[in-house]
Amino acid sequence: MFRPAARIATLPKPATIAMAAKARELRAAGANVISLALGQPDFASPMVAVEAAYAAGRAGDTGYPPIPGQKALVEAIRAKLLRDNGVEAAANQVMVANGGKQVIFNAFMATIDDGDEVVVPAPYWVSYPLIAQMFGGRSVEVPCREEDGFRPDPRAIEAAITPKTRWLVLNFPNNPSGAILERSDLEALAEVLRAAPHVMIMCDEIYEHLTFDGRRHVSLLSVAPDLADRVLIVNGMAKAYAMTGWRVGFGCGPAPLIAAMIAVQGNATSGICTLAQAGAVAALNAGNDGIAEMRDTYEQRRNNVVAALKKIPGLSCAMPQGAFYAYPGISSLIGKVSAEGRVLSDDVAFAEALLEEAHVATVPGAAFGLGPHLRLSFAASDEDLAEACRRIEVFIRAIR
Ligand code: PLP
Repeated sequence: MFRPAARIATLPKPATIAMAAKARELRAAGANVISLALGQPDFASPMVAVEAAYAAGRAGDTGYPPIPGQKALVEAIRAKLLRDNGVEAAANQVMVANGGKQVIFNAFMATIDDGDEVVVPAPYWVSYPLIAQMFGGRSVEVPCREEDGFRPDPRAIEAAITPKTRWLVLNFPNNPSGAILERSDLEALAEVLRAAPHVMIMCDEIYEHLTFDGRRHVSLLSVAPDLADRVLIVNGMAKAYAMTGWRVGFGCGPAPLIAAMIAVQGNATSGICTLAQAGAVAALNAGNDGIAEMRDTYEQRRNNVVAALKKIPGLSCAMPQGAFYAYPGISSLIGKVSAEGRVLSDDVAFAEALLEEAHVATVPGAAFGLGPHLRLSFAASDEDLAEACRRIEVFIRAIR
């Protein structure tokens, strides 16, 4: 008889699952649901990637790949790291995985023992605590304040570090808040980390190219190269190159960590689809011009969405500086009652009522460890974004 392992049975269900099921149900019943819940770029993958994948298939590049990644892709990643991040990495410091998510999975499986701690500034992408938990780890959440632009306070990070801390996770530009870190933030964090030499640092830079108002993402390693033997950069093709379905991510870190992650991957997947790797090589080597176009579009949508949200009484909305999400706060609306009589007891109840009554799907802040907020994705058309904001306004104005 099926009996799940304890690590699965005790895994919390993300708040998103019930919402996605409800949205499907409403759509099936004929409702015009607008979903702003997905972190999926609404652009086509670069045609050079599609063509390179096709050519690789025709050329017979269809055997098992090397576990760490094909040589051409490892070389393209090394060139990208130098070009975009000022990071010089040897070939044995780089590995390719099935998306950024598997880089994180490999890293945590390779390093986390029962009772180890992972410090995660909140709000955070849902998967860090869940993956850590799968390996017996425990996440220690450090709330970031909206007034600080959702940037972590180095003193709070310092206070969260214990002898059991294995990792600090830094995801900037941040999903869901859109916060980015300035050089001075990174310098202050580096000071804290120098005093905690047992802590490894995961820098998830998957949204690095999606920064607004002329700002640029700065890598921790370019500010504090002395931390190189403890930093794992997580990145991938999904967001910047609109290649979510290709499942190509990569990690760059100290050689012994990368070797351990390769050992995990060798026992899990034996490596990444060869055709997807050929596509990733072509996309990376084509440079960043295509990304600039998408970034400009996201920036325009951000301006429109934030302007629309700021007009709605009861919402607060910090200006996201990167990624493609808005993260408005709804604290002054919690405890009130919707037009159809639903009690808005927390952000999960709020998001459910918004979906049921206004047919707009969002993700409640509870999923990201910091509420009451809603996450709205800009990966949607201008028309859908404008209509969604209009429906949110009507919904909120009717709250009693
Ligand atoms: N890191 C962050 C912050 C993300 O938001 C995501 C995807 O949503 C990932 C990593 C994983 O990306 P991938 O599709 O490459 O696994």
